Amino acid sequence: MGMQIDYLLKQVEKPSRYIGGEVNSINKEISEETVRFGFAFPDVYEIGMSFMGLHILYFLLNDMDDVFCERLFSPWTDMEKIMRETETPLFTMESRTPAGKLDIIGFTLQYEMSYSNIVNMLDLSGLPVFARDRDESHPLIIAGGPCAFNPEPLADFIDVVFIGDSENILPEFIERFKVHKTEKTAKREFLKSIVDISGIYIPSFYEADYEDGMFVGINPIEKEAPTIIKKNIVIDLDKSYFPSKQIVPYADAVHDRAVIEIFRGCTRGCRFCHAGMVYRPVRERSIDTISEIVDNIIKNTGYDELSLASLSTSDYSDLGSLVEKLLSRYEKERVGISLPSLRLDSFSMEILQRIQRVRKTGLTFAPEAGTQRLRDVINKGIEEKDLIESVENAFNLGWDSVKLYFMIGLPTETEEDLDGIYDLAKKVLETYYRMPKEKRRRKPRITVSVSNFVPKAFTPFQWEGQDDPSVFMEKHRYLSKMFRKEKTIQFNYHDADTSFMESVFSRGDRRLSEVIHKAWISGCKFDSWSEYFNYDKWIAAMEDSGLDPIAYANRFSDYNQALSWDHISAGIEKQFLASENEKAKIGELTEDCRQGCSNCGISKNYRGTCDV
Ligand code: SF4
Repeated sequence: MGMQIDYLLKQVEKPSRYIGGEVNSINKEISEETVRFGFAFPDVYEIGMSFMGLHILYFLLNDMDDVFCERLFSPWTDMEKIMRETETPLFTMESRTPAGKLDIIGFTLQYEMSYSNIVNMLDLSGLPVFARDRDESHPLIIAGGPCAFNPEPLADFIDVVFIGDSENILPEFIERFKVHKTEKTAKREFLKSIVDISGIYIPSFYEADYEDGMFVGINPIEKEAPTIIKKNIVIDLDKSYFPSKQIVPYADAVHDRAVIEIFRGCTRGCRFCHAGMVYRPVRERSIDTISEIVDNIIKNTGYDELSLASLSTSDYSDLGSLVEKLLSRYEKERVGISLPSLRLDSFSMEILQRIQRVRKTGLTFAPEAGTQRLRDVINKGIEEKDLIESVENAFNLGWDSVKLYFMIGLPTETEEDLDGIYDLAKKVLETYYRMPKEKRRRKPRITVSVSNFVPKAFTPFQWEGQDDPSVFMEKHRYLSKMFRKEKTIQFNYHDADTSFMESVFSRGDRRLSEVIHKAWISGCKFDSWSEYFNYDKWIAAMEDSGLDPIAYANRFSDYNQALSWDHISAGIEKQFLASENEKAKIGELTEDCRQGCSNCGISKNYRGTCDV
C-alpha cells in the first residue's frame, strides 16, 4: 500500500505531474526478491517524460520478472514546499513508495544544470546526500547519460556511474545486485564485485590529486579498480532492446509523440559537439526492425505523430526508403512523421514533400555560425547556398515558419561572424519575399535562437576557454540591437550566467561536489529554469569552497594539462581531438566518416564496430 498523497495534490498547480497511472505505466506484485528500482529524472514530469531513454530503461527493467522499475521526478517547488511541511518524502509515481525504501535509484544526467536537483531529490528521499554517509541500508545511487562522461562534479554523491550505453549491461548489473541483496553482502564488497562490468565506474575507488590548487591527476585506490574506465557500447542496435510501448503522459510533455531511435552516433565531427563525439561509432537500426517497433508503439499508444530520432536524422543511410515504408503504412491513419535534427546538405526535399502531405511540422535548421569561415572552424560542413536553397524549397512547399539555431562565443569568433548571423537570417526572410505573392499566404515566422559556446569534455574544443559572461552579454546586446530592426524575425538567446556555470561543471573536477552541496544548502535548485537560477549563490558557493570558477570555464588548457576526465575513455584518442583543435584554428575541414575515416580511435578501441 503506497502513501496517501491525494490531499497534497489539491494544493498544487499541476497535480497530473504526480498522479501516475498513465496508459502503459506498470504496477507489479512485490515480493522479498523483487529488486525495486527508481528511475530518477532530476527535473519535472513533463520534461522527463519527453526523454526517450526513460521509456527504454523503464520497459527494459520491467520486462525482467523480479525487477520493478518506477519513476521519480523532481517535484515542482509548490509541491516540494508542501511535502517538506508535511514531512512527505519523495515517492514513486507507480506505487507511491517512499524513494528511500527502494533498492536502487538511477539518475539520468542529461544536463549539468540539473545537478542541484539530484542533491535535492536525495534529501527529499530522506537519504544522506553523500555516498560516504550511505550504507547497505540505503538505496544504491547510480547514474548514467551524456554528462556521465565527466562525472567528477557528482563524484561525492553517486555510488556507481554507467559510462556509455547501458541497455546491454543493466541485466548483468541487476543479476549481481540480486546476489548482493540476497546474501546481504557489504556495500563496498558489492561495488568491488561489479568493476569488471564494461563501462562501470565507482568514484569512491579513486582519489584525485591537486598541486597549487590545480587538478593534476586521478588514480585508483582499490586494486580492483581499473586505471582507465572504457565506455560501454551496444554493438548491434538491431539486437538491442527497444520497447514496444511508451508511457502516454497526462500533462503536456515537451514531446508528446511516439519516438523511435533510428541510429546512434554521428559521423559528422562538429568540433563543439559532445554527443557527436562520445556516441561514436554510428550504429543504425534496420528498416525492418524500425517498422516492427513503430507498429507496436503506434498500436500500444494511439499516438498520431511519430518522431524519427537521432543526432542527425537525415544522415540515416536509407532515409528515403524508411520514410516511404512508414508513410505507406500510416498515411491512411494520418499518423504524421517528424524528422528532428535535419541537416542542410543531405536534406531531401523529396522526403520533406512526402512528409508534408500528411502534416506540416516546424522546420529547424542549425547553421551554428554566421559565416563560412567559422562554419569551417567548427567543421559544420554547411554552405550558405545549401541553407538558402533548402529554405526556398520549404517556403515553396508551403512552410512559413523556420527556426535557425546559432552558437556564439565559438573559438576564433569575430564581430564579422556575429554580423553573419543577422545577414543569414535576413537572407532567409528575403527568400520568403522573393516567392510570388500568391504563394505568400501569411507573414513568415523566422526565429533565431542563439546559444553560448560551452567547452565540453571529449570534444576538440575541450581545451578552449569560454567567453566571460560580460562578453556574452555584450554580444547579446549587439545582436539584439540588430534584430530589433526586423519585426518579422524573433531573436532569442540563452542566459550568459547559466552557460558560465554549465561550463564550470562540464570541465569540472570532484571538488565541485562540495560546491553543489553548498549551493543547494543556500537554496539552489531547478538551475535550468531562469526563474530559479541564482548566479550569485553559485559564485558564493565557489568562493566558499576556495575555487575560482574562471579557472574552470574561461581558461584555455594546454594539451599536456591533466583533465579531470582523463581516467574515462570515450574511445576517441586525445591526440585526434588535439589535432582537430589545431585544424580548427586554420579552418581546415575533416571529412565525414561516411566519406573517409579520420582515425579518431573508435575502430582501434572497439574493433569491428565502425562500419560506415
Ligand atoms: S574510426 Fe573513423 S569512421 Fe569510425 S568514428 Fe572514428 S573517424 Fe569515424
